[in-house]
Amino acid sequence: MMSRTRSIFISILQILLVYSLTNRVVIADEVVDSTVYHVQEITSGNFVHLGSFPPQSTHNHGDVANIGFIVGSECVAVIDTGSSLHVGSLLKAAIRGVTNLPICAVIITHVHPDHLLGLNAFAQDPTVAVYGHHRLPKQIRLRSKYYLEMLERELGVDHIDNHIIDPSRITGVDRLLTIDLGGRVIEIKAWDYAHTDNDVTVTDVTTGTFWAGDLVFSKHVPILDSNVRQYDQVLEELQSLDIKHYVVGHGPLDRPWRDLVGEQRRYLGLLMKEVRAAIDEGVSLMDAVNTIGWSDQNRWFNFELYHRRNVTTTYTDLEWED
Ligand SMILES: [Zn+2]
Ligand SMILES: [Zn+2]
Repeated sequence: MMSRTRSIFISILQILLVYSLTNRVVIADEVVDSTVYHVQEITSGNFVHLGSFPPQSTHNHGDVANIGFIVGSECVAVIDTGSSLHVGSLLKAAIRGVTNLPICAVIITHVHPDHLLGLNAFAQDPTVAVYGHHRLPKQIRLRSKYYLEMLERELGVDHIDNHIIDPSRITGVDRLLTIDLGGRVIEIKAWDYAHTDNDVTVTDVTTGTFWAGDLVFSKHVPILDSNVRQYDQVLEELQSLDIKHYVVGHGPLDRPWRDLVGEQRRYLGLLMKEVRAAIDEGVSLMDAVNTIGWSDQNRWFNFELYHRRNVTTTYTDLEWED
């Protein structure tokens, strides 16, 4: 009897062991995942992970935005944290693959969830300072609930409470803020209404590398979540800058800066021109979203997903202009 009990006990142990091994396999998969999570050093000390192009899904874990980090001689600054804790943790593991220096700053370029919701992978450490536009905390308060529901629905994330962002963690940037990472100064610049009302960019002064966030898109259709005319003014200023090395929020980094910004301005110009004509002719917004700007359909990725919204934003902005 004893031996039977013992043998059952051993079997249970074996089951537990197999279970834990199975679990380990899952964990090992994630580790494998993090080893294929790729970062590239585009200029000295500036490391970028290129997000994938398809819309975020359970398949890509929401790994859609270009995010990364800058390494100084004393500490590391992270720029954007991905769509979820999963993505944020992969970025953190990638940092540890490069350096053991402490992470002293996280900069969130704007409120959109593909840049923001991985923040808690870093922000739970109270020694990490989190920077963003002075309007970012307000936008986090306004949008959090919706973004967390989206996370659950679109990425199948179970523990959305772990993703709740504390707006009081953000140090707001009004105009320009510089941070010294040790032998390397970075500048955080807050812009006025552009892609959103809370965009910041980061410049690594040492290499001149410009982290544009979603102010500029590459091959991915630009997204307008603010005011089209002011966005175009910001783009005009950005186009005049002599930028050799850059990171944009979405898409490849291989085209000359001015061409890239010019292409985006052309698209916004097309929107403004055709929307103004539609308003003059009394075309309703409902009709306008299906007719305006569709000649650009094959030029951009994810056009179907975002273009109608861009037309809507442009229409409501221009409807009341003098
Ligand atoms: Zn984005
Ligand atoms: Zn965005």
